[in-house]
Amino acid sequence: MPKAIISKAKLLIVDDEPSNVRLLERVLELYSAAEIIGTTDSRKALSLFLEHEPDLVLLDLNMPHLDGFAVMKQLQEAIPADSYLPILVLTADITAETKRRALAAGAKDFLTKPLDSSEVVLRIKNLLENRFLHLEMLNQVRDRTTQLEQALEKLSSTQEHIVKQERLRALGMMAGGVAHDFNNALTMMLGYGELLLPWLQEHASSKEVGYLHNMISAAQDATHVVGRLREFYRPAEHNEIRVAVDLSQLAEAAISLTAPRWKGSRRAEGIQIDLQSDLPDVPPIAGNAAELREVLTNLIFNAVDAMPDGGVIRVVTSHVGNEVTIAVSDTGIGMTETERARCLEPFFTTKGEHGTGLGLAVVYGIIQRHGGAIEIQSQKGCGTTFLIRIPITAVEAATGPQSCPAVDRALRILVVDDQEIIAELVAEYLKADGHFTATAVDSSEALAVFSHGVFDLVITDQSMPGMNGMQLAAAIKQISPEVPVILLSGFGEEMLDLASNANCVDLLLGKPVCAADLRRALFQVTSAAEVHAAA
Ligand code: ADP
Ligand code: MG
Repeated sequence: MPKAIISKAKLLIVDDEPSNVRLLERVLELYSAAEIIGTTDSRKALSLFLEHEPDLVLLDLNMPHLDGFAVMKQLQEAIPADSYLPILVLTADITAETKRRALAAGAKDFLTKPLDSSEVVLRIKNLLENRFLHLEMLNQVRDRTTQLEQALEKLSSTQEHIVKQERLRALGMMAGGVAHDFNNALTMMLGYGELLLPWLQEHASSKEVGYLHNMISAAQDATHVVGRLREFYRPAEHNEIRVAVDLSQLAEAAISLTAPRWKGSRRAEGIQIDLQSDLPDVPPIAGNAAELREVLTNLIFNAVDAMPDGGVIRVVTSHVGNEVTIAVSDTGIGMTETERARCLEPFFTTKGEHGTGLGLAVVYGIIQRHGGAIEIQSQKGCGTTFLIRIPITAVEAATGPQSCPAVDRALRILVVDDQEIIAELVAEYLKADGHFTATAVDSSEALAVFSHGVFDLVITDQSMPGMNGMQLAAAIKQISPEVPVILLSGFGEEMLDLASNANCVDLLLGKPVCAADLRRALFQVTSAAEVHAAA
């Protein structure tokens, strides 16, 4: 269908003979060509070509000033390499030599003068068919290239994400390992220090009591750092306390809690930090309020640190689909790409001595445990936004207040640890609260002691030679399913494994333990056991 094709085309006619131009124009008009540009001056060919971008050029060879070969040379230079522009040469001189030269110069086909209009139409149609097929192919290639580019971009950002996750996981493992090794040492230093204190206060001078106080507080500081590391890599526990948390209310609380840091603290120096908030009603999420508050205070403190010359902090919550989001942004110094990529790593800080580099690692750990995600947008000099997204999941029956009173009766407790000194320390703690204890240094001794006595509770270490804590717990449950078992454990991989399959364990307790942790754990497992027995 020549008409269908020609009607879509723009054509340029270059011939010094006006009657030829007119003839061609008339033929093409008959076929309703979209646009016909004719000229008898070959010097205008190039500019007309560039202006109209035709689909086909009809070109005479013998012309004054610029002949057809010269015009073809100009056009070849102007046409992009990947485009297909057909040139149809019109000539009376159609010797083999001329044909060869014209083909070499870029001609695609020939028409011999005088022109035969039906041949003109057929040859034009053929060339245009090729032209349009080529254009279509080019478009497909471009679309495909864009798709591929997008896919590649997505792939490389996924890859970047995986590398980052992997790096954080590896760091978590390492941190967990270090924390694990420090725990026993700290447990002993703190524990025996605390036990020694009342004796020393009675028998020694205030100078010696002071020394011991210093030792205890140094050990407490170290425990704090280890504890923060633990927060970074602690996996979610099966009995994690989750209550309904309103993130808008929580943000409100965090803002007023942190006010001393941003409000007027340096107003005298002319430095002012404004805090704007937009905290609409959002649905509650299941979470740990104390942990989530820590997330917000860390982010607000970082924002304050990032604005030594003052600025604006914005805290905004919103409800999007199945998530509640909370964004903390500042107009501060911002981060470089490397800083942004590494800021969640434990110990990464740009604040020298003033920073610990643990704040965001803790934030990361907490958000992970809530099944959420963190997005960071930042540009050096242009401020930073931390966007936190937490999925809305059903809140299981609220587990009551987080600080528990102590058990008000004496319990008979079996304490098992392959390090005798730790078993004794835990026993000391328990005795101080009025409980009765027995100790064992491995699982077989523990089982022997357990079956010869009557116990209300077992506390066991996880990593012991021979039968480990979990296996001991299972054996104890075989004998007396109603006796609660508390498992003491280090961190890192060990915890991960445990958290996922600890069904014969009633409570998992991280080391080092202190008196308060033990008291709380005892209360928790015994009240759960009572509820169980009543039902
Ligand atoms: P610290 O505050 O002790 O340095 P964090 O883990 O809280 O540790 O933060 C790690 C690093 O991330 C900071 O030292 C800083 O370089 C960068 N950072 C965190 N928050 C911001 C922020 N709002 N603006 C600019 N940089 C930030
Ligand atoms: Mg910080």
